[in-house]
Amino acid sequence: MESAEIRRRWLSFFEERGHTVVPSASLIADDPTLLLVPAGMVPFKPYFLGEVKPPFARATSVQKCVRTPDIEEVGKTTRHGTFFQMCGNFSFGDYFKEGAIKHAWELLTGSVADGGYGLDPERLWITVYEKDDEAERIWREVVGVPAERIQRLGMGPNYWSMGVPGPCGPCSEINYDRGPEFGPEGGPAVNDERYVEIWNLVFMQYERGAGTGKEDFEILGELPAKNIDTGLGLERLAMILQGVRNMYETDTLRVVIDKATELTGVRYGAGEDSDVALRVVADHLRTSVMLIGDGVTPGNEGRGYVLRRIMRRAIRNMRLLGSQEPVVGRLVDVVIKTMGLQYPELVTDRERIETVALAEEAAFLKTLRAGTGILDNAVGETKAAGGRELSGEQAFLLHDTWGFPIDLTLEMAAEQGLTVDEDGFRRLMREQRERAKADAMAKKTGHADLSAYREVADTAGATEFTGYTHTEGEAT
Ligand code: ATP
Ligand code: MG
Ligand code: MG
Ligand code: MG
Repeated sequence: MESAEIRRRWLSFFEERGHTVVPSASLIADDPTLLLVPAGMVPFKPYFLGEVKPPFARATSVQKCVRTPDIEEVGKTTRHGTFFQMCGNFSFGDYFKEGAIKHAWELLTGSVADGGYGLDPERLWITVYEKDDEAERIWREVVGVPAERIQRLGMGPNYWSMGVPGPCGPCSEINYDRGPEFGPEGGPAVNDERYVEIWNLVFMQYERGAGTGKEDFEILGELPAKNIDTGLGLERLAMILQGVRNMYETDTLRVVIDKATELTGVRYGAGEDSDVALRVVADHLRTSVMLIGDGVTPGNEGRGYVLRRIMRRAIRNMRLLGSQEPVVGRLVDVVIKTMGLQYPELVTDRERIETVALAEEAAFLKTLRAGTGILDNAVGETKAAGGRELSGEQAFLLHDTWGFPIDLTLEMAAEQGLTVDEDGFRRLMREQRERAKADAMAKKTGHADLSAYREVADTAGATEFTGYTHTEGEAT
């Protein structure tokens, strides 16, 4: 079943059951606390917090999501992307635990002919929060899942909360057993690669009080109106329904891998390292296109920095795979072709997306040309002196003068067997920020001579001059 069809079935299943179909919001969250949207519930947050009265009691969506903290997992686990699509159904004071559980089961195990996904019920394993007897009972008695395929987990994985005071409550997750070739048995509590998490059901049931962290807080009482928030990873379901080993081999990502193979001559399956690199390229290029599509442009802070980092990592991986030529145009093209089925605005916006992506590639290739020699020298000097670590000063210089993001320096140093003094680097970054702030203050009061800055800006050109604009984004 193709991704576009999985999406279509999701929305029509819930629409037929009284849910209003809400289009995906932009990845740029309408929420000052978030850089990018990491989950399907974000656009509904004001309803869940009781700040705004929801215009419907039930809603469904397939929301574009980006999770930058998952970047290190990409290509290494089978199931984490930086961009993915979260299918969700939501109830605002309407149906609760039993309704959510029954809907989920019906859709997953319903026959393909009747609009379901046709999963084998015997491969589905359930986790519930360890104290949530009610959810366990519904799974066993109402749905008929045998007790041995239901596992109880603690608050870490199976409890959700938002804000203080704010809603909170237990979760229940549905996991799919991919079989013994993915590892030993024992259920999702012991093996998350074999028993892959596909769907999280959140039961917003209580009011959270003061307390620290994710697990240690007071529960004030039952919420007057109980809500449902669920999220299923479209790519994970596609991986199962398409019978492939990982999410990067599903229809919308595999074509990007194939294009990268064509451009580098490296066959997918030739080796673990090159496979990871090909998966990173496919994931990151797709994320980049989706971010640019929603209006993000590469830069040195915030979202722009997320995009820059992801794009540059993709380009670097292409070079590690042996490609010396510009590649972004061809890769962007194939992403737009495959994602355009679900997001036609990518097609109408093609020219702008390509222009932004190509400009970033050109800037980065220039940076690499200039900085690689400097990095090699620094590595050579460090090794000659018997050191195993690049200094913070060296990393800072590479960043400040040559535009090397710190993770690029880290990766390139690691390839030559060195670590980097990251603390030293961050200290210098902080000091630079402080100086920039002081300068800005002086500028306001008219006491600084800015001609030196202007000179640099004029000679370096707009894309290269990054001198005093770095902020938090760098620190991730
Ligand atoms: P995991 O434990 O596998 O990292 P999660 O518990 O962080 O997943 P949730 O926050 O519960 O994920 O999100 C709901 C669903 O979204 C998950 O069950 C999964 O199907 C999907 N999902 C989460 N993160 C990713 C990702 N990085 N790439 C693809 N799908 C994801
Ligand atoms: Mg996760
Ligand atoms: Mg999880
Ligand atoms: Mg989860």
